[in-house]
Amino acid sequence: MSSKEDRERLGKGTHAVWAGEEERLPWGATCMPVVHSVTYSYDDLDQWFEVATGVRQGYIYSRNTNPTVAAFEEKMRALEGADDATSFATGMAAISNTLYTLLSDGDRVVSVKDSYGGTLKVFTEFLPRHGVEVMLCETEDHDAIEAEVRKGCSVLYLETPTNPTMKILDLARLAEVGHEVGATVVVDNTFNTPINQSPLELGADLVLYSATKYLNGHSDAMGGVAIGAPSLVRRVFHFREINGATLHPNTAYLLLRGLKTLELRMQRHNENAMRLARHLVEHPKADVVNYPGLPGHRYHEVAARQMRGFGGMLSFSLKGGFDAVRRFLPKLRFAHRAASLGSVGTLVGAPGTTSHVEVPIAEREAAGIPEGLVRVSVGIENADDLIADFDQALDAV
Ligand code: PLP
Repeated sequence: MSSKEDRERLGKGTHAVWAGEEERLPWGATCMPVVHSVTYSYDDLDQWFEVATGVRQGYIYSRNTNPTVAAFEEKMRALEGADDATSFATGMAAISNTLYTLLSDGDRVVSVKDSYGGTLKVFTEFLPRHGVEVMLCETEDHDAIEAEVRKGCSVLYLETPTNPTMKILDLARLAEVGHEVGATVVVDNTFNTPINQSPLELGADLVLYSATKYLNGHSDAMGGVAIGAPSLVRRVFHFREINGATLHPNTAYLLLRGLKTLELRMQRHNENAMRLARHLVEHPKADVVNYPGLPGHRYHEVAARQMRGFGGMLSFSLKGGFDAVRRFLPKLRFAHRAASLGSVGTLVGAPGTTSHVEVPIAEREAAGIPEGLVRVSVGIENADDLIADFDQALDAV
């Protein structure tokens, strides 16, 4: 591979396979080894000093950096087309470390009510204890979000599509308002991956991922990553290296392996979810179907503008309410009834009894989460088999 510029021009499928590894592979190995070493030795004290002070590239101690972890970070940096990336033990570590880096006593953060549950806990339980004012707006009410941002904030934190009702935020529009007031715009892009949506190109300053989901893709490793300009990423890295939510090299290896098929998997997730969504819209036992790829979705046009694919997540409600869900879910043959998302295998759950069990029924209904709602993380199985499976399970309702 000739120059850095040549490398940056490559397609995402090529980055997914090669980036981060080609320049690090020792002994003619064809995949990145897991480097378990916690510490790294230097006979030359000047060299050691240069690495320790960041003048020269290298490794000192694996809480800060590690070769296998660095390969994962570089692959993610290349996939996002950004200048820097740093990793974390989980997605929540990426989110909380970023928010704690960017926000201090007296600051204000604006976000939406439908962010991931763990993120909402950081907003409602932890940040206020440190003197941070948190404003959570109605998710798709762009005018209200803009008005709150214009009152002033240091961070505008966004997630789109949201869980479980697949609400969409117009990232370019909101990022512009965020920048008018000098806010750092942070986007959780977990549902999309760099294949389906590029928040940095839409104006965001930092992109966060739970690597536990699509990036890994096999439900067998947890991780997180923050990607953007070095001026921001280095600050978040410093918080993480001191506070210690470091990605383990074994896990980095699993993430590297999962990432190699990211583009292929996402293409299939996109296709399968679109087919299942279209099928469910026509099904007499299904009521509302939430999928941004459907022309009937409230923000379909915004989604079509900012997403290259509509992703593998959808939700739909059964006309019979929770009794129908109780009968439907156990009948599915090709679906794990489990939390999480983004795996090769289909995962289903009932938000009313899982992620939103603590939210009172009236509030859930108002947020578009009826008792009969089923969330589906559509896997990469054969689409005909999935549709036939959903049909036979719906027959039981
Ligand atoms: N962001 C989103 C959108 C998620 O769905 C999740 C987990 O479900 C997270 C962040 C948190 O990730 P993790 O479980 O890896 O900490």
